Amino acid sequence: MQFTELGLQADILRAVSEQGYTTPTPIQQKAIPAVMTGRDLMASAQTGTGKTAGFTLPILHRLASGSHSHLARVTKKPRVLVLVPTRELAIQVEESVRTYGKHLPIASLAVFGGVGINPQIANLRRGVDIVVATPGRLLDHIQQRTVDLSAIEIFVLDEADRMLDMGFIRDIRKVIALLPKQRQNLMFSATFSPDIRELASGLLHNPVSVDVAARNTAAETVTQRVIETNREQKKDLLCHLFATRGWHQVLVFARTKHGADALSKTLEKSGIKSAAIHGNKSQGARTRALTDFKEGKLVALVAPISLRAVSISIRYLTSSIMNCRMFRKTTCTALAVPVAPGWKVRRFRWFRMTSVLS
Ligand code: AMP
Repeated sequence: MQFTELGLQADILRAVSEQGYTTPTPIQQKAIPAVMTGRDLMASAQTGTGKTAGFTLPILHRLASGSHSHLARVTKKPRVLVLVPTRELAIQVEESVRTYGKHLPIASLAVFGGVGINPQIANLRRGVDIVVATPGRLLDHIQQRTVDLSAIEIFVLDEADRMLDMGFIRDIRKVIALLPKQRQNLMFSATFSPDIRELASGLLHNPVSVDVAARNTAAETVTQRVIETNREQKKDLLCHLFATRGWHQVLVFARTKHGADALSKTLEKSGIKSAAIHGNKSQGARTRALTDFKEGKLVALVAPISLRAVSISIRYLTSSIMNCRMFRKTTCTALAVPVAPGWKVRRFRWFRMTSVLS
C-alpha cells in the first residue's frame, strides 16, 4: 500500500513524500482510515511503529478538510488536544505536526513545564489549532484561564500506559472533564493493563481497535541480551562493552537521576562522550543533550528508566529496581544489552526494551 491510496489531502501527501516516506507502516495503514472517518480509536502500538504520523496525518486531514479550517484563529480556542507524558514527547509530537502540516494553514503549540509560561500564553492568545501538552503545565494554563478547551474536537491520549505509570491519572481525568462531550477520542498505549482498559472504557465510544505489536513484547527490530553481573562490575563491564563493540549511539537507562549523572561521569572518564538527561536538568540542557545525541555528537545518553527513547538502547539495571512493575519477575542483577552476540542469554522476556528509531 502507498500513502497516496489513503485519501489524505494533497498538501499532507506532499509533506509526507518530502520526508521520504512512501509506504505507510502497519499502524498507519489501519489507524489513518479509521481516524479519517471520525471514529474513536484504541491502538496498541509502541514507539517506533510510526504511531505519531498514524494520528497526526488524519487529524491534519480532518482539520484541513472541514469548512472551518481557520476557526481557531478566530475563536482562539484549540480544536485538537494531544496529551503526552513527557516534555520530550511533547516537543517530538509537535514537531511531527509541524512537519506534516507545513503546507497547511494550521498552527500548533507544544505546552510543557520547565520553561517560561508567558511565550505559551502569547501563542495561545494568537490562536492555535493543535495543542500538544503534558498534563501539569496544561492544568496551570487551565487554572490561569489561558487555554479554553471547550472547542476541542479531537482528543489524543498518547502513551497512556506511561501516563498511568507516572501517576497522571487524576490530571488526565481533570482534563477530560473539561472537554466537550461530543468529540473524537484516540488512545495509544504500548501495553494494556486492567487500569488502561478501565480508562479506555470510560473514554472511548465504540472504538476501532488496532493492534500492531504483540502485547508486552519488544519490537521485533530489537535483539535483547542479558548479561548476569554484580553491582561492583557493572560500570566496568559497560565501559568494556563500549570500548570493544564500537557502539556509537547508545541509550543507557539507570534507576535514578543521580545514578544517571554518576554513570554518565564514569563513561566520560573512560573517554566515551556522554550526557545524562532527566527532569532535574534545565530544559535547555535536555534539548541540547537530545540534539547532540541525535546528531551523533554524544556516544551515550544516560536516562532514568522513566524516560524511553531512541536508537540502540540498553537498560542498565540494578537489583533494587527488580521489584518495580516491569521487572517484577526478575531476581538477579542484570545488564540488558542489545545485539551482543556471544554473551550468555538468560530469560529476558520481562524486559520491555524500547524500539529502534531512526
Ligand atoms: P513514532 O513511532 O511515531 O515515534 O515514529 C518512529 C519513526 O518512524 C519516526 O522517526 C518517524 O519519522 C518514522 N516514520 C513514521 N512513518 C514512517 C513511514 N511511513 N515510513 C518510514 N518511516 C516512518
